[in-house]
Amino acid sequence: MTILVIAEHDHSSLKSATFNAITAGLALGSDLHVIIAGHNAGGAAASAAAITGVTKILHVDSDLFAHLLPEPMADLVKTIAQNYTHIIAPATSFGRNVLPRLSALLDVAQISDVVEIVSANTFRRPVYAGNAILTVQSNDAIKLLTVRGTAFAAASTGGSAAVETLNVPADIKKRSEFVSQELTKSERPELTAAKIVVSGGRGVGSADNFKSIIDPLADALNAAVGASRAAVDAGYAPNDYQVGQTGKIVAPSLYIAVGISGAIQHLAGMKDSKTIVAINKDPDAPIFAVADIGLVGDLHQIVPELTAKLKA
Ligand code: FAD
Repeated sequence: MTILVIAEHDHSSLKSATFNAITAGLALGSDLHVIIAGHNAGGAAASAAAITGVTKILHVDSDLFAHLLPEPMADLVKTIAQNYTHIIAPATSFGRNVLPRLSALLDVAQISDVVEIVSANTFRRPVYAGNAILTVQSNDAIKLLTVRGTAFAAASTGGSAAVETLNVPADIKKRSEFVSQELTKSERPELTAAKIVVSGGRGVGSADNFKSIIDPLADALNAAVGASRAAVDAGYAPNDYQVGQTGKIVAPSLYIAVGISGAIQHLAGMKDSKTIVAINKDPDAPIFAVADIGLVGDLHQIVPELTAKLKA
């Protein structure tokens, strides 16, 4: 049984979700390869080689992979897929983009959002916005899994896997083109990897309030900033801040929900957080049912007070 993890990286280093995906892979078997397809991605390959338990790195360097576009990535992995019993990618935008294409190319089912490896062919994954856990058994020869980073610890470093350089197979055509991207630049920790997340909802009231109320609390705690979908839709916060079923899944040590009602689609993205603090003026808001600490009151008063105390 040989397992392949498709690494998400920025060419110089690995994205944190790759470390979690490797832990999931190691739960399946001890012969684990990692593919780094990138452009000038020697740094990422070296980082992957240093992860404990990884047995081989497959390094493919080409400008075809400069932006980690899913089409060439799926075409590439297809050429080596027959060598593997399991192919794993993180359940991030990257993995969710690549694996469905690979699944179609290989004509096997994809098992998404795996949160537990039961055995080599049995996996658990949440359904109905996390309200039920489905146990799935697959008889496919190659099992394709996206795994939730929050369900697996990050793999540790200390290994020294061999790095094998692969040529780009001749039949991989350029079928898509990278045009541009707009990224939110932030000094704050990355949302899915942060130990503390401060999220604002529609109750925050405006984009200006988001900046003057949520951001200072996050800065005082060195936290990442998240948002509910209603806050994103209203333009209070950028799209990539969204936490929930159709946003990012987070499980920090501390999650502070400010002016968020606690709809199931939001809870699906944060209810595994270790400690949940909710600040809401409505004592009946559903968020209080999952909160460890609840503060009933006006966020305009409570949050600046809290921020000032933290800074004192
Ligand atoms: P509201 O529900 O409007 O709640 C605002 C809260 O702020 C209220 O509880 C109110 O009491 C409180 N409040 C108002 N003013 C103050 C004040 N001054 N002080 C303190 N509290 C105050 N939502 C997500 O978040 N993430 C998702 O990924 C997501 N995916 C979805 C997918 C689907 C298919 C669907 C149908 C919905 C999805 N939603 C998602 C939307 C979700 O159903 C809710 O509409 C949304 O989460 C509500 O956001 P909210 O809590 O910010 O707003």
